[in-house]
Amino acid sequence: MCHTIRTVLVAGFSLLILGTTVAIHQAMAPTAPVAIPSRKPDRPLPGVADAKPRYWKGNLHTHSLWSDGDDFPEMIGDWYKQNGYHFLALTEHNVIAEGDRWISATQNPIREKAVADYRNRFGDAWVERRTNGGKAEVRLKPQSEYRSLLNEAGRFLIIPGEEITSRYAKSPVHINSINLQKLIPPLVGDSVLETVRVNLAAVADQRKQAGTPMIAFLNHPNFGWGVRAEELIRADMLRFFEVYNGHPGVQNYGDAEHPSCEEIWDQANFTRITEYGLPLVYGLATDDAHQYHQWGGTESNPGRGWVMVRAPHLTAEHVIAGLEAGDFYSTTGVLFDEIRRDGMTYRLKIQPQPGVHYKTEFIVARKTARDKAAISPKATANAAVLPPETGSKNRPVLSQVVATVDGLTPSYTLTGDELFVRARVTSSKRHINPFKAGDYEMAWTQPFHP
Ligand SMILES: [Zn+2]
Ligand SMILES: [Zn+2]
Repeated sequence: MCHTIRTVLVAGFSLLILGTTVAIHQAMAPTAPVAIPSRKPDRPLPGVADAKPRYWKGNLHTHSLWSDGDDFPEMIGDWYKQNGYHFLALTEHNVIAEGDRWISATQNPIREKAVADYRNRFGDAWVERRTNGGKAEVRLKPQSEYRSLLNEAGRFLIIPGEEITSRYAKSPVHINSINLQKLIPPLVGDSVLETVRVNLAAVADQRKQAGTPMIAFLNHPNFGWGVRAEELIRADMLRFFEVYNGHPGVQNYGDAEHPSCEEIWDQANFTRITEYGLPLVYGLATDDAHQYHQWGGTESNPGRGWVMVRAPHLTAEHVIAGLEAGDFYSTTGVLFDEIRRDGMTYRLKIQPQPGVHYKTEFIVARKTARDKAAISPKATANAAVLPPETGSKNRPVLSQVVATVDGLTPSYTLTGDELFVRARVTSSKRHINPFKAGDYEMAWTQPFHP
């Protein structure tokens, strides 16, 4: 058959079938129009139209049985959710909770208790157990699986994370990466500073490749006295560090030879601005929780320190945007209704608690502080661009408390010569499970340029 005739026949036959199909359909068509299931486009999704920025409570540093924590990740997420948190990052040491993993159900009495509690709370339809070589095992569920059970729109969100756990010589360098998508193996540079830098760069690289917001922050600088102000000053990509970490071994308050994390913070920000023109580093409070079965000062328990991040929606992207904008504060119990700047006035509104008093200290580094500091020979030796091996304790603290205000609505009027301003609030209420015996509840606002 020639090509033209075949084409005409095929086309004619197709038209016949189509015509018959249309006729049958017309015969069967209902008289009323087909109702399309409505998605109510005229009505915004609840929580969207009226979404205003509000504070979300979250912890960005947590360990589970996927690394060296002593509880199942679902149980930990459940604890935080029950205790009023809105978001949680489980940040295991050099591990991402993915793949098939089974652990002993009977390794020690704490593990046995963890398994019993897990079965009680989540039930045997959820908890997977097996016997392997005569030993009882439990499956550690990957995050992709368990977060579906805990996440709730506008109420609770698990954000992926990892504690990139590196070291240079004897100095631990731990960097948390939040909202990462794949594991970042710890890198080691040729100094503490370079080790900080290469790991921050690895997170930035992944962020760029994935096209997804991610942040990295330097953890517990005083742990093992691993990281000093010098590294915070010169790590140009650094935007966040832990000014407070709830793990009892991290030396938040320094000692006779080492500055506190708060002193490191101000030292670093002062020199970053004056010497290097770098952005301010923001201070985070985290739990670094590992222990969920025994409670007290020697354990690293949940609930010690957290962040309150202002954002319109509870999504990883919005939380990260709030953190990057410095629109958050860190706390061990003191809460704010509002943090605001009216022209030259910086105002805080503290949430009252019955019978509790608050003292707010406004901390300022002035542009003139550097000239004054240079008068002291000790300061001259340290305040300039420091050689990398200079100890931090001798570095002059060029910030000072410029006002101490009691009450729920403290404010500070800027003079215009501030390099940065921040506030620290101390409550008269003792922390229920403190980092250090006798600690009062506190909060730290983020430094800002006037
Ligand atoms: Zn760590
Ligand atoms: Zn940790």
